[in-house]
Amino acid sequence: MASRVRRELKSELPDLSRYGRLAEYNRKRHFGVTPEPAGREAARPAGHPREFVIQKHRASRLHYDFRLEHRGVMLSWAVPKGPSPNPAVKRLAMQVEPHPLDYNQFEGVIPEGEYGGGTVMIWDHGVWAPVAGDKLGDDADVDRQLAKGELKLVLLGKKLAGSWTLVRTGGERQWLLIKHKDEHVSTEDVALAKPRSIVSGRTMVAIARAAGASERQIAQAAGADPPEPERTTPELAKATAVTRPPTRSRSRPARRAAGS
Ligand code: MN
Repeated sequence: MASRVRRELKSELPDLSRYGRLAEYNRKRHFGVTPEPAGREAARPAGHPREFVIQKHRASRLHYDFRLEHRGVMLSWAVPKGPSPNPAVKRLAMQVEPHPLDYNQFEGVIPEGEYGGGTVMIWDHGVWAPVAGDKLGDDADVDRQLAKGELKLVLLGKKLAGSWTLVRTGGERQWLLIKHKDEHVSTEDVALAKPRSIVSGRTMVAIARAAGASERQIAQAAGADPPEPERTTPELAKATAVTRPPTRSRSRPARRAAGS
């Protein structure tokens, strides 16, 4: 009986997201438990460059959170495979709740059982600008393009740069992140080639260990890092291959022959 009443009360709770763009962010998190920052909208002086950040996040699944500053919050998309600088590769980007600007400095571990539990790395960070026609756009252009479902932008980060587009393809939240042709295109797998934090130089597993993550989270973080380069160089593979089996297989039959 009591649980039914509670359930009914819960279903009648208002959707707080209409009272502020960070309400959904705040509602999903327990700030006494998670080290993530509480959501406050920030006021910036006019003409302040817009920040962008990409956070590599090993939650229930690995993804890259692509965040663009707009009107005091970070608009956010979860990109499962990460951005690709190859214009032929379009990456699915699921729009998620806006995050606070303070989130751009967050690198660490969200505890087990909390929303988005797992390791977070600041994978890239820089400034961005909207593009309207052949010039830079303003906040009103961003609003218009988002409503239309096609946001054109330029990025200036440490790993990513140049001209990109976010195109909505289905429903309210499903978009594609696509690189435009310019001098910053590349066929390199940038997630694999540049896997470390741009603020700390750490790997995912190093971030997890430093934060005292659970064994399960440490193992998951390690799985999100590319294999150690030392283990995969052809020189090392050759060196280990020559020193082992041949000497043993030659000496064994010889000894057996001598003993019998
Ligand atoms: Mn995430």
